[in-house]
Order: sequence, then C-alpha cells, then structure tokens
Amino acid sequence: MATAHVVGAGVAGLSAALALAESGWRVTVWEMARQAGGRCRSYDDARLGCRIDNGNHLVLSGNRSTLAYLARAGAPHALRMAPEARFPFVDLASGERWEVHINDGPLPWWPIVPSRRPAGVGLGAFVAALPLLWAGEHATIAEAVRPRGPALARFWEPMSLAVMNLPPTLASARLMRATVIEAWRDGRLCRPMFAPHGLGAALVEPALAALRRAGADVRFGAQVKALRVEGGRVAGLHVAGEAVPLGPDDAVVLAVPPQRVNALWPDARAPEEASSILNAHFRLAAPVAGPPLLGVTGARTQWIFLKDELISLTISAAGFVEGTDAEEEALLDALWAETRAALGLPENLRPLAARLVHERRATFLQTPANAARRAQALTALPNLVLAGDHIDTGLPATIEGAARSGETAARLLGTPARSNGAAPRAASGSGR
Ligand SMILES: Cc1cc2nc3c(=O)[nH]c(=O)nc-3n(C[C@H](O)[C@H](O)[C@H](O)COP(=O)(O)OP(=O)(O)OC[C@H]3O[C@@H](n4cnc5c(N)ncnc54)[C@H](O)[C@@H]3O)c2cc1C
Repeated sequence: MATAHVVGAGVAGLSAALALAESGWRVTVWEMARQAGGRCRSYDDARLGCRIDNGNHLVLSGNRSTLAYLARAGAPHALRMAPEARFPFVDLASGERWEVHINDGPLPWWPIVPSRRPAGVGLGAFVAALPLLWAGEHATIAEAVRPRGPALARFWEPMSLAVMNLPPTLASARLMRATVIEAWRDGRLCRPMFAPHGLGAALVEPALAALRRAGADVRFGAQVKALRVEGGRVAGLHVAGEAVPLGPDDAVVLAVPPQRVNALWPDARAPEEASSILNAHFRLAAPVAGPPLLGVTGARTQWIFLKDELISLTISAAGFVEGTDAEEEALLDALWAETRAALGLPENLRPLAARLVHERRATFLQTPANAARRAQALTALPNLVLAGDHIDTGLPATIEGAARSGETAARLLGTPARSNGAAPRAASGSGR
C-alpha cells in the first residue's frame, strides 16, 4: 500500500493525516517536537502548576473544516458550543459595557438593534462597512470598511485582532471577508466553541488516537531535514540523520510553518514575516464569576478567557501594542489590574501564580501583500503537496485555515495508487 508521509503534526498535518488515512493511505507522521499540536498544543506549566494552552484559541461553530476534522478524529463534540453568538465587551477607558449579539439566520439584522451593537456605534458604521464584501486584494480592512467614530476601536479592531492577528489598518480585507462570509454573517455559524479540557484534549489527542486506530505511524522527535528529489518526484526524506526512501507510489505532505517549508522546499516562497501573540495567565485559588470570553477595549488586554481557576488574557499583534515590551513583573501587574477592572474583582484578590507567554511567530503577517503571495498547496512535483495555515486556502491563518489546508492536501493527493510504478495523482485545481 502506498504511504503518505506527513511532515508536521500541527492541526494542518493532523488534518491531512486523518483525511489521507480515510482515503486509504498508509500514513506516517514525522514531528520534530516531542508532542503533537504545534501552535495549538497544551502543556504542563511548572510555574502555574497546571496545564495550559499555548494561547487561547477561539474556534467558531461555522468552522466547517475544524468540525470535519473533529468528526474524522471520532470526537465531534470535543469542543463545547456556546448557546448563542453573544460577545460581551467592556471598555476600560470609559467603563461602558455592551454585547455584540449576532442574530441567527441568513439575514444579518442585528446591527439595526442598538442593544446588539457596540455602545456608541451607529447603524451607519455597519452600512459604511459593506464595501468589505467586494474589497480588492490590495485593501486593508480599515480601507474597506471606512470606519466612522468609535466603530474602529470598538468593533473592527477587536475583530481584526482576533481573526487576523493584525490591526485593521494593516490586515488584508480579503481574508477578513472570507471569515465574515463563512462565519460572522449568521449567529448559527459564529457561536464560540470552547475546549473545556484544553486544546490538546479537544483537538490533538483525539486525532492521535484516531490515527493510531487507523494504523498510522506517528514519530516524535523526528525532524525532517531535507527532501531527496530524483526523477521529478520526492524519492526520500532525511529524518534526523536517517535516510528514509519513498516507494514509487508514496507521497509527502509538508505541513510545517513558512520558514521551515522554505528551507525544505524553497519554491514555496512562503512569506516569513510574522505577527506575535502575547498571553498572560493568572491562576487563582478558586474560579471567579464572569463570561467564558470577554472582549476588552481601551486597554492593552484584548480578550479575557475564564476557565476554572485560570484567567488567560490575549493580546494579539502584540508587536503593535504599546507597552507589551515592559519588564515581565510590571506587565503582569498592569494586566492583572486590567483584569480586575474588567471582571469587577475585589482589589485585594491576588493570583496564586502568573506567567506571560509570548509566541513571536504566532501567524504570518497577514497584510494584503503577504496574503497575495501565499504559497500554493500544489507543487511542481506530483507527489509533494503543502499544507499549513500559511497556505493559500483563502482563509486567514487560524485553526480553521490549518484544518482546511490539511483536507485540501489530502484531496489533492487523491486515493493511493494500487499498482506499482504509477505516481500518486495530484488532482488539478488551485489548491483552494
Ligand atoms: C498564541 C496563539 C493564539 C492563537 N489563537 C488562535 C485563535 O484564537 N483561533 C485560531 O483559529 N487560531 C489561533 N492561532 C493560530 C493557530 O494556532 C494556527 O493557525 C494553527 O495552529 C497552525 O497550525 P499548523 O499545523 O499550520 O502549524 P503548526 O501548529 O506550527 O504546526 C507545524 C508543526 O510542524 C512541526 N515541524 C516544523 N518543522 C518540522 C520538520 N522539519 N520536521 C518535522 N516537524 C516539523 C512543528 O514542530 C509543528 O508541530 C493562535 C496561535 C497562537 C500561537
């Protein structure tokens, strides 16, 4: 039976591996780290004394490739869906609170109702934003939505930072439009989905278990250092000092981040500029009351996630947020003060432990220019395809983008050749 070698066990690689196993391939996954999940992993943190996620991850009910991935992993209910598409916010500069409450159904009428839109933002701001739907490839979100008054700070900034990991003045309008069309237009599609026991338990462990059941071989601590190309196809892999030959019908999916894919396959020319995400975690003695997800404006903190005794803050595009380069203790103190104000916690409440995690290469820098030159899934070699959140799926670099890229890579490789000698068929198409 032909083997598909998947390089990288992040969501993109796991998604490809599951779909390939389903199509009848024998699958081997090569992962350089000691664990799977990549940027979407959980780990035990000694300072906090508990398991944390490598960043809070927001997944939406309309993320169809993520849901298909979970179904393939045999864990369709691993993420818990909120009952409604309600996003509570607080503005720490003014103390105002509001909710963005997106209605269910194909007609998005929610901006007409003042109690469903941000405080101080009129209906006109949403009407003015309609050009986002036909934005050109060179437009940023701010250029497309022509924000008026507080609409930029209270709606487009939180949206752009959460989805694009960039401020709206820099982020690609085209990529934002894709998520508006796939999810944000209908409350049924943009209910937040939470991982009650962490990202690893929801998105990684079920996939690994399903791969094991399918007979896949998942190797950790196995860095693929080079591809051996011969006769117009990948003929072997160099894995941590070992030469792994490929059979005539075998194929490779490179599901590694931009700088790694460029090193292994320079023709990919994936944009390597990156945008960071800063997370602050506060461990308490007991859970506090509050929504599982709270948007914050007028502060450095952008989102607060509550989970049991852990409060985790997200600051996306941290490189563009003033004051995030402060010394760790001072920054944690400032962020804890913001957290207390946002959640209305008593002044004397102190966390048992706190830590900052700064992921410098959280996503590629999703400007219009970089979005236009994303790498394609298909390569010049018939048995090599690319996956990863940086691949041109038409979606932003998210869990959904990664899951979609893996599905697409598997679809492009099709079903394994049964006869000797025939190279696996890379289906034609743009890779989207
Ligand atoms: C802090 C943070 C917060 C985020 N928040 C959100 C969010 O709220 N919602 C959302 O949808 N997305 C979010 N994201 C983005 C999301 O995590 C990524 O889009 C997604 O996880 C990317 O998956 P991937 O498989 O493409 O890449 P990765 O997760 O980077 O996986 C690539 C894997 O390849 C391995 N690898 C690399 N080189 C080699 C090699 N040569 N040989 C073998 N293995 C190799 C790596 O070790 C890694 O495991 C966030 C990311 C971060 C960092």
